[in-house]
Amino acid sequence: MEKNGKKLPGTHQDQDKQDMVYDNDKSHQKWRVKENENFSRTFYRNQKECPKTEEGKPICMKFFIRGVCMKSCTRSHSLSAEDAKNFNEFVEGCRQRALKPDF
Ligand SMILES: [Zn+2]
Repeated sequence: MEKNGKKLPGTHQDQDKQDMVYDNDKSHQKWRVKENENFSRTFYRNQKECPKTEEGKPICMKFFIRGVCMKSCTRSHSLSAEDAKNFNEFVEGCRQRALKPDF
């Protein structure tokens, strides 16, 4: 008697993972969201000010700050030296602002 019904091997549970892309660039580690930071509150709410790449593509905050994003994402996952500089300023600005109370 086979009572414990056969489970189909997870066909879709790993699908999301396969669509993920990771930022493994060590020089980007400084941008990573820290344990005591809230991604939405510190960074995402400033997304309007997020710089664009020299090509005019919005820089992907998720990819560079969270370190992970989706392959299907249309934002830029690669930065020129100039882009990285601009993005770094943006990240620092977000962090400074997060230290100040929201009146
Ligand atoms: Zn992205």
